[in-house]
Amino acid sequence: MAPWTCAIGGCAASFDDIEALVAHQVTGHEAHRCRVCDEVVPEGFFAIRHMVEEHTRAEYVRFYDANSDDIRLRESLVEDVTAEIDVEALHRRLEADGSDGPQAEALE
Ligand SMILES: [Zn+2]
Ligand SMILES: [Zn+2]
Repeated sequence: MAPWTCAIGGCAASFDDIEALVAHQVTGHEAHRCRVCDEVVPEGFFAIRHMVEEHTRAEYVRFYDANSDDIRLRESLVEDVTAEIDVEALHRRLEADGSDGPQAEALE
């Protein structure tokens, strides 16, 4: 089984590298509207990173009905993916997929 699995809504598609997984999440799933600030971000890693980086744990608990285990899981996921991902490679992959403006901008 490939090491990276998409965890969005029971999708369970798996990929050999993290860039392929994140590109799939950006182009293959509906974007996510943040419940805290109403910003639209790609579903999956970017939605999680948005929450971890832009909002406090208290907001996450309140708006997403999360518990501290959820938060720890997401924080360590963001750390793991950030350490692993090659943003340049992801950009190239998204360009090759023909992904346009708003989704690509979220990667900046
Ligand atoms: Zn998926
Ligand atoms: Zn937000």
